[in-house]
Amino acid sequence: MDNESFRAHGHAFIDWLADYFEHIESYPVKSGVAPGEILSQLPLSAPEQAESMENIFTDFRQLIMPGITHWQHPGWFAYFPANNSPESVLAELLTAGLGAQCMIWQTSPAAAELEERMMEWLRQMLGLPEQMEGVIQDTASTATLCALLSAREKATDFKANARGGLLPLTVYASTETHSSIEKGVKIAGYGRDKLRLVETDHRFAMSPQALEEAIDADLAAGLRPACVIATLGTTSSMAMDPVDLIGDICQRHGIWLHVDAAFAGTAAVAAEHRWFMKGVEKADSFVFNPHKWMLINFYCSAYFVRDAATLVKTFSVQPEYLKTAADNQVKNYRDWGIQLGRRFRALKLWFVLRSYGVEGIRRMVNHHIGLARQFADWVEADRDFQLMAPRQLSLVCFRYKPEGIAGEKVNALNRRLLDKVNASSEVFLTHTSLKGNYSLRLSVGQRTTRLEHVQKAWQLIGRAAKEINPR
Ligand SMILES: *Cc1c(COP(=O)(O)O)cnc(C)c1O
Repeated sequence: MDNESFRAHGHAFIDWLADYFEHIESYPVKSGVAPGEILSQLPLSAPEQAESMENIFTDFRQLIMPGITHWQHPGWFAYFPANNSPESVLAELLTAGLGAQCMIWQTSPAAAELEERMMEWLRQMLGLPEQMEGVIQDTASTATLCALLSAREKATDFKANARGGLLPLTVYASTETHSSIEKGVKIAGYGRDKLRLVETDHRFAMSPQALEEAIDADLAAGLRPACVIATLGTTSSMAMDPVDLIGDICQRHGIWLHVDAAFAGTAAVAAEHRWFMKGVEKADSFVFNPHKWMLINFYCSAYFVRDAATLVKTFSVQPEYLKTAADNQVKNYRDWGIQLGRRFRALKLWFVLRSYGVEGIRRMVNHHIGLARQFADWVEADRDFQLMAPRQLSLVCFRYKPEGIAGEKVNALNRRLLDKVNASSEVFLTHTSLKGNYSLRLSVGQRTTRLEHVQKAWQLIGRAAKEINPR
């Protein structure tokens, strides 16, 4: 493609995206295609002859778009947000155009230094301890894996790295923990049977007593407790593990404390919501995802560690061809994580944080939390509905529970209710299981979601409930 065509198509694509943002509500939130439907329309092999961009773009619109689930739709109440912003999209375009591979300082000094400063900005915005240093990882799953690997090395005095094989090391997380913890435990070589899932209280938060008992039992059995993973904002119900109390236990036993705040972390920008961060200075590592609730498009996960030297010592290898004269004056982020190659991801953070200001991010967070609070009020005021967990930040867990119906029948009813609501295509909600009860989740966090969208969700839920009411 020559430069003139690039210019023309580039303008057309931005126009198309601007139209998409403008008319996004005309799309069904959740894609309705059947499994295999897209695949069956794709040629079995790559084209031998070059094709025109016009044809490719036509296929994008006709073939790909029907198979897209619209995370940026204001009726997005499913899973968690992965919100986006025009500013972030523009920065991503620049990142793609520069095509820099930012594995070490020398391969793009501005990328390394902007990343360093952006991590300091985020640390201050969330009120994280001053000695913490940060690095951008692709996802929280990767960051948590890094924490598990650092914890493993710390517990074995770096012998696991050097010789392989392990002492029997144990890891602790609550029964409500994210699936990425089990995955990380498996990859890092602890063995799944060394992961202890600690009981939670009535608010679905980890019980510090149960944690201490599990640690004591393992010590008595000759095992070495290596890592505790506390969650701030569990995926099912946004429960907050008591990091302060858990931190004391970890310090007493010399155990690595990793805090997974992938979703909820952003809320700490607002002082009135920062309470859940109490004790975070006791953490060895902390992760949250600006790509969830901070208007940064996917991937951008902020990983902070109290002792960067341990992180670097866990990952650093020094092949001759990557050594440079600047090495002892700069950060070479290749040593701060798993992969060598790195995209220039700090740019979109810089664009978004400057465009919105901390104040703008705070306003968005408060707006979303206010909408969730409003929705929770409606649930509580309706005799036929109930909250299934305390409303926490922007997430509401609830269910339909008409009088006289109990047990498995309620679960089945709510399953039908969810299907009916989502069939409207105007909103998309998902479910979870809380103490064995099928529960609906309303998670607010899309950039353009307003009160009317939450009202719409509540209306659709009420209407669906009437239609399926067994009475
Ligand atoms: C979303 C989430 C994760 C996983 O995040 P990825 O960036 O997709 O790996 C982990 N833990 C919690 C609590 C989450 O909310």
